[in-house]
Amino acid sequence: MTQTMRRALMTAMGAPLELGCDAIPAPERGEILIRVLACGVCHSDVHIVDGDWGRPARLPLIPGHEVVGEVVALGEGVTVPAIGETVGVAWNGGACGHCRACLEGEETICPEREGTGYSRDGGYADHIVARADFVVTLPKGIDAARFSPILCAGVTTYRGLKKAAVRPGGYVAVIGCGGLGQMAVQYARAMGLRPIAVDLDPAKLELATRLGAVATVGSDEELPAALQAIAGENGIRAAVIVAPVAQAFEQGIAAVAPGGAVIFIALPSEQKDRISISISDLANNEKRLIGTNVGTRADLREAVDLALTAGILANVETLPLADAGIALDRLRRGGVTGRLVLTMKG
Ligand code: ZN
Ligand code: ZN
Repeated sequence: MTQTMRRALMTAMGAPLELGCDAIPAPERGEILIRVLACGVCHSDVHIVDGDWGRPARLPLIPGHEVVGEVVALGEGVTVPAIGETVGVAWNGGACGHCRACLEGEETICPEREGTGYSRDGGYADHIVARADFVVTLPKGIDAARFSPILCAGVTTYRGLKKAAVRPGGYVAVIGCGGLGQMAVQYARAMGLRPIAVDLDPAKLELATRLGAVATVGSDEELPAALQAIAGENGIRAAVIVAPVAQAFEQGIAAVAPGGAVIFIALPSEQKDRISISISDLANNEKRLIGTNVGTRADLREAVDLALTAGILANVETLPLADAGIALDRLRRGGVTGRLVLTMKG
């Protein structure tokens, strides 16, 4: 094992990532050291690096929370996973295990939760230390780059759809067809639902169709009416909002049928974090607004297992770690059809 690792480091909010080397950290009690094979670049990384969510708890910080790698060293007390196993590291990097939220199986809202690539160093590096109890084991030989987005985009949309509890065959609007949206379309299909893809970008809609969308809508159309026309008397049973635009949430609420659920996933920047809601529409039509924050370890295990059984993989474009800053820039500009994934060869 080399003594130093390459990493892309956030040193200040809004500053370009700094490429360089650091000593490989030693795993402490309960932690493992992982050699990173691939790390997806999530839109949240742009928000973190640009300072849209304020100053991260840790700075300097290595971003990245869609990590697939191989266990190379164990900290004290760790028996699982074993050295050599392939594991995934997701956003949910730790929770206290004893608060009310944790006891109720909702560690995503634990007040002491840790975020990989946010309050812990993440995967824009060729090594990462993670809490052994918070990684998910993966089959050996898995396509690390194409699987890495399951660790955030996948589990996030899976949990959202699970919480919406749509009956089989129900129509689900997926509003925004970037990295999260293409996962939402695939998970919806795997869960027996009928996804309708919504995006302004025809290339993204074409990809969504290949991934299983039953219909598409360009979101400059009168969106709620367009969606309702497709669903007919069945109605739109849920809207998954994965476009970080306030208007998309309002359109989703208007589009869902009585009893329908609107899944709040995308995170607009702090300045655009407000929407307008009709109280009577919500009350009279018993619409459900559901906030969801990535996923618990149980959600992650389920999302991984469903991806493995249903053959869900991300459509990706791989880049070397040295291009981490370029990847963030491309997400800022928009128009990225698949998921950008950093791969750590050599
Ligand atoms: Zn993410
Ligand atoms: Zn807790």
